Amino acid sequence: MAEPSPPSSELQRQLQLLSEKFAARLAQELPELANKVQLLQAGDHETQLLQLRSLRDQLHKLAGAAGTFGFASIGQRARELEQQASHCLENLRLKDQGLQAFIQQLQQFTAQSLPSAAQRPTPARPRTAQKAETDVQRIYILEDEASIGENMRLTLSNFGYHAEHFSRIDDFDAALQRRLPDALIIDVNLGDSAQTGLAYAAALQQRLEHPLPLLVITTQDDFATHLQAVRIGAMGYFTKPVDIPQLENRLERCFAQQQGEPYRVLIVDDDHDLASRYSLILRGANMLVEVLEKPSGIFAAMSRFNPEVVLLDVNMPDCTGPELAQIIRFNDDWLRVPIIYLSAETDITRQMNALIKAGDDFVSKPIADNALISTVFSRAQRARLLSIALSRDSLTGLLKHADIKEQVGIELERAQRSGKPASVAMLDIDFFKKVNDSYGHVAGDNVIRALANLLRQRLRRVDSLGRYGGEEFLVVLPDCPAEQALRILDEIRQRFAALHFIADGTQFSVTLSAGIASTEQGVNDAGELLERADRALYAAKHGGRNQVRQT
Ligand code: GH3
Ligand code: MG
Ligand code: MG
Repeated sequence: MAEPSPPSSELQRQLQLLSEKFAARLAQELPELANKVQLLQAGDHETQLLQLRSLRDQLHKLAGAAGTFGFASIGQRARELEQQASHCLENLRLKDQGLQAFIQQLQQFTAQSLPSAAQRPTPARPRTAQKAETDVQRIYILEDEASIGENMRLTLSNFGYHAEHFSRIDDFDAALQRRLPDALIIDVNLGDSAQTGLAYAAALQQRLEHPLPLLVITTQDDFATHLQAVRIGAMGYFTKPVDIPQLENRLERCFAQQQGEPYRVLIVDDDHDLASRYSLILRGANMLVEVLEKPSGIFAAMSRFNPEVVLLDVNMPDCTGPELAQIIRFNDDWLRVPIIYLSAETDITRQMNALIKAGDDFVSKPIADNALISTVFSRAQRARLLSIALSRDSLTGLLKHADIKEQVGIELERAQRSGKPASVAMLDIDFFKKVNDSYGHVAGDNVIRALANLLRQRLRRVDSLGRYGGEEFLVVLPDCPAEQALRILDEIRQRFAALHFIADGTQFSVTLSAGIASTEQGVNDAGELLERADRALYAAKHGGRNQVRQT
């Protein structure tokens, strides 16, 4: 996922409309408040108690909402008055004189706030929209040693990136003028250049409206250079000789964070206006939002929408936020979903008590737009990373054995319905045991990861990829005849063979074999399709490896 993107001008307009709507609500609520104050003044003891309670609740809501809609000072004052109301309630039995003072202040508050309720709230600063996405990622490499840069460019091209290499800062700068890439790879020592790569990169990132993902390559392995790299916002640090598949792995992680599906957020709040506002703000930051006004709808909403974060109002009429949080926590399926309370509650002890029962975090109303976005964003990001880590193979991020096998069945049925052929390919790395024996298990893991990344880069979004076993992979290609699958897999085979791996300063390459089977051959059983692909793979191995066969 990308950093939360700033609200667009359309969002600004909608927020403005909501604020105006809230101003109208204020204009209606303040006279009501004044009315209660009169009743409080004139009433008997029972009436006073009743009115005070009602006043306190109304002030509590106002305190939470007003600030959020751009009426910060009204919100602040309402909160102070709410606290006074609580205080008066406690002391009412003692015939405390404070009540008169409180009434006076409330009268002042309603009288002073009305004019500003009629005013338009100050709109937030407009900001620019996000950059459009392209299909192939463009990488610029600044490396003064031509052979290293060229090798990196070639390898990254094999992975499916559009990579360009430059030896000199001037050329690099000129390319940046023509078109911005999606990521930068910059060498720290640029030979006879007056500037170091880090100083150049720092100035460059400052110049750009949105800093680009930056990977640093260097011969220096000291702490100071690492620190410098972090300070200019580098997302990766690689010492020479650079293990390019590992560098590619990092690139992929940068992009995956930028391009993931939008986060799904469920808001449960009985205050319709506030919920609309929160959802607008979060939608403006590219999240998918659903609002639930009645807590009783929680089961349906959780199952259907499958949120990654739940925002809960604390004070709702039928069921409190902490109660609802506990209901959600009864179900193990939803344990991973972070629950954040939205509340006008500022009492730390009460916040703590709510958190002890269930829930993960507390944000107090009024909440600033950016604070809401970043709180939800960071929780959602972590929840998704965790969820992926649990459901995917940890080394490659691909589907696990059972899931990819299930996918074969699903695609087989789809192919039967649509009449369009599907293919499956079984891949196995050649002589992988030797890689482990010669270069160690870590190097072997790198090779496995590189193949997974290569598959992800080269195949379509509709294709399913899984790690079938140790160094065996299974690919399911819907709407793809065997002939086409053969071409695609053979291209992947060649690109994989062209990758250079490095372990202990030694360079080596690895090949793979693959077997393909397709539904065209009248196969209508997933098990049989897999068996055929396996037989084709066996034939490829016996035919001398480094080749793709079909049944
Ligand atoms: P062939 O060309 O016939 O496929 O030979 P091979 O050596 O690749 O086949 P074999 O099945 O004999 O060996 C596979 C090896 O893969 C054995 C196992 O230790 C290793 N392996 C399996 N999973 C992993 C892993 O996650 N990481 C690493 N580094 N090695 C693994
Ligand atoms: Mg093998
Ligand atoms: Mg094997």
